[in-house]
Amino acid sequence: MRSVYGGKNAFAPVASALAGSGVDVRIEMVEESPDPVVRELVRRGRRVVVMYGVSSPAFLELAGEISRVSRLAPTVVGGPHATGAYWQVLRLGAAAAVVGDGEIAAVEIVRRIAEGSGLEEPPPNTAIMAGGRFKVGPVKLARLDDYSPHYPRLGLFPPIEIMRGCSYRCMFCQVPWEFKSQVRFRSVESVAAAAADYVAAGKSEIRFVAPIGFAYGSEDLRTPNPAAVEELLSRVRAVGGKPYLGSFPSETRPEFVTPEILRVVRRLAYNRRISIGLQSGSDMLLERVGRGHGVEEAVRAAGLAIEYGFTPVVDIIFGMPGESYEDVVETVNAMYRLSSMGARLRLHHFLPLPGTPLARSPPKPLHPLYRKAVLKLLGRGVLEGHWEEQEKLGLEIYCMTALDPAPTREPQPLRGSERLCSGLWEAMTPARLEPYASVLEALLSRA
Ligand code: SF4
Repeated sequence: MRSVYGGKNAFAPVASALAGSGVDVRIEMVEESPDPVVRELVRRGRRVVVMYGVSSPAFLELAGEISRVSRLAPTVVGGPHATGAYWQVLRLGAAAAVVGDGEIAAVEIVRRIAEGSGLEEPPPNTAIMAGGRFKVGPVKLARLDDYSPHYPRLGLFPPIEIMRGCSYRCMFCQVPWEFKSQVRFRSVESVAAAAADYVAAGKSEIRFVAPIGFAYGSEDLRTPNPAAVEELLSRVRAVGGKPYLGSFPSETRPEFVTPEILRVVRRLAYNRRISIGLQSGSDMLLERVGRGHGVEEAVRAAGLAIEYGFTPVVDIIFGMPGESYEDVVETVNAMYRLSSMGARLRLHHFLPLPGTPLARSPPKPLHPLYRKAVLKLLGRGVLEGHWEEQEKLGLEIYCMTALDPAPTREPQPLRGSERLCSGLWEAMTPARLEPYASVLEALLSRA
């Protein structure tokens, strides 16, 4: 397993799935290019599978390495970029891209390789390329309780995943469009058992990962279930854990911020920050991107959080597709209004993430009104987020999609993208994206 940016924890569920699979497998974790380890293991006659988990930034950085390592041993690439643009990963030479729940895919791939059978037909939750064509395997949903969220043997204790999938359809977000969008919860028994291991290992701060932290146990997936949240937090405390819910990485939507939930979280959890997604100060834009709530709901949620003794941290995304001058003005006003109430703001720049309905929308530079508001609010010390890096990153991600937007036999670049992308494409070629060398050459000569 090749970890990137120190993100070893992302492999914990897959590692624990493999360890419990009955396949005789030994897991090694490397934090730099795995070529030497792979060569040595192959020399010793071992069957080797190399695994990556890549976000879009990691994919752009590691494309050359993935391509090189794929020639040494079967290489499997998972993570959000592989799910959203599996064909790009496969064109680099990867044996399989994971497009659904990784636990099931990893076990089946490793089992087949251990037995010496091939990947001519795609295992569940994966995509492969055979004879120049892409094939996607059947979708098989994992039950979270079947896999422990941590892997103590390698010291992997990530935030405990309590919910997977989301029933909302925000167009900028990868979660609902992935092959695994169906909502599942981890039971309190499974959470408590894992939390006891964390505490025994000296890691008593228990954080959770969930698309909507306060939706834990929700029956209709639209309203919170305070009793389920209370049980979750109480059981973690009962084994000596200090639970955190509603702050990163278990943020929440405004509709789920209710007095009942806040009372429970205030009493039983240790966080005093609540992360609330607003994304835009314009109701019209919120509707256009399928957000499913209005601005006032988020302002109300922030006010309620303050009333119950929390600091709300409100997410805003700059430059979403279709954002008009009026939308920018309204968002800036909402930023001032929220910060005057006592909220902090976590700022993002729109990223056209692969696999989302907005993947083909070119990102825009930061609007001057945002720049002005940011300068003012920076002085008040209420801002956080990576909006500056994301402005550049958004263009890089878009240009990768523009180069190879769909699982066609040959890449068919998006028309008209040369104007925005030729500079970046020049920088990409040829070392990082060798399989695209001829496409890039043709595009650059046209640009
Ligand atoms: S942004 Fe949040 S609420 Fe919207 S689809 Fe993604 S995870 Fe669900």
